[in-house]
Amino acid sequence: MKAALLKAFGAPLVVEEVADPEPGPDDVVVRVFASGIDGTDLKLLDGFGYTPELPFIMGHESAGTIESAGSRVKRWKPGDRVVPYNFVIEPEDPWYRTEREQLCQNLAGILGVRGANGGYAELLCVPARQLIPIPHGIAFADAAVHCDAGLTALHAVRRARLAPGETALVIGVGGVGAFAVQFACIAGARVIAVEKTEAKRDWARQLGAAAAMSGADIARTIPDLTGGRGVDCALDIVGTRDSMQGCIEAVMPGGRIVIVGYTPDWFSISGKKLAQNELEMIGARAGSRQELAQALALTAAGRVRSIVTDTAALADVNDALARLRSGLVLGRLVLDCASGRA
Ligand SMILES: [Zn+2]
Repeated sequence: MKAALLKAFGAPLVVEEVADPEPGPDDVVVRVFASGIDGTDLKLLDGFGYTPELPFIMGHESAGTIESAGSRVKRWKPGDRVVPYNFVIEPEDPWYRTEREQLCQNLAGILGVRGANGGYAELLCVPARQLIPIPHGIAFADAAVHCDAGLTALHAVRRARLAPGETALVIGVGGVGAFAVQFACIAGARVIAVEKTEAKRDWARQLGAAAAMSGADIARTIPDLTGGRGVDCALDIVGTRDSMQGCIEAVMPGGRIVIVGYTPDWFSISGKKLAQNELEMIGARAGSRQELAQALALTAAGRVRSIVTDTAALADVNDALARLRSGLVLGRLVLDCASGRA
C-alpha cells in the first residue's frame, strides 16, 4: 500500500510503498477513502507533545470501507462503510465500561497519534471493536472529520450542559469549533463565536452563530449582547492564556467554562472570583465511542453542515500540512487517500 511515513520529526513525510497490514484474528483492515488533518498532526510532525516510535503513520480522522477481516470478526463484511474510534482500549478496562475510554491512562494506543498507525495511507488495520458504521448519506470526508472534530465538539457541548435559551461563547472556530457552534445551536443555545479573522467570523455566522467578534472585543461587547449578564457558558477551544482570560471576562456568575483546547500555557484565576461567583471549570477531552456514533447520527439527520473546506491527494500531504500551518484553511482539510488508485 501507499502510505505517508513520519520518519523523522521536523522533516517532511515520505510517501512510499510499504507492506500491507496483516490483520490479527480480531482486527479488520480498512481501505481508507478520507483522512482529516489538523493541528495535532502539526504537533506530531514537530515532535511536540506526542512522540510516537518512528516510522509512524499519522491520521486520526479516517473513513473507509472494510477490506478484509480477521478470523474471529463476525460483525463486518467487505465493503461496509466505517470510521474507527481512536482510543484503543481493552474491553475489560473500567474506562471502557463507563464509556469514558478517552480518560484511560493505560491505552494500547491512539490511532495516528501514538502506539497505532493512522489513516495517512491506503489501508488501516484496527481492532474490529473500534469501528462505528457510517450512516447512509454521509460522504467519507464528512464522516472522517467526526472521528476527532465532531466527537470532541459533541462531548464538549455535553460537558457544557447547555440548556435551551442559554448563551454560549465559542472561542476558536476551526474544525472542533465549527462543530461546537452547530451542536450548541442544536442544544438550544444562542451562540457567540470568537475568531481572529473576518473570514472565520463570517463562517461562524453561516454555521449558526448569532454574533461573532474578535477576542479583543469580548470585555466590551459581551455585556451589550447579554443585557449586562454575561454568557452562561464559554467553550475555550484555543487554550491560551488570552482565550481563558476571555472566558473569565465573559461568563456570568454561576457560569461554566469548558476547556477543550490546550497549549503549553498555564492560567491564573482569582480564587475569590471562582468561589464567590460559583464558576465551574470543566475539562473536556475528545469523547466516547458512543458520542462518535451520536455525532454521526446528527449529521445523518441533516442537522449539521459540512466543515470540510479543503481536500488534497495523499501524495500531496506535505503541501496540505503546509497549507494548514499557514492558517489558510477555513474549516477542515481532508486527504483523499484513494485518489492515486485506478
Ligand atoms: Zn485532532
